[in-house]
Amino acid sequence: MSNGTAVMGKMSNKKVHIRCRRCGHHAYHVREKRCAHCGFPAPKLRSYRWAKAK
Ligand SMILES: [Zn+2]
Repeated sequence: MSNGTAVMGKMSNKKVHIRCRRCGHHAYHVREKRCAHCGFPAPKLRSYRWAKAK
């Protein structure tokens, strides 16, 4: 078992998130087709109470 920071070196292989068209964050999930930041393509903006609005 060797998880943790040591695994970070292997993370450059698969492209999981690309730049989101709506919010501009690098958070659009390629396979899920959904932005982890704003929820694109959902019409409403993704927002949670625990995530402080900024
Ligand atoms: Zn987004």
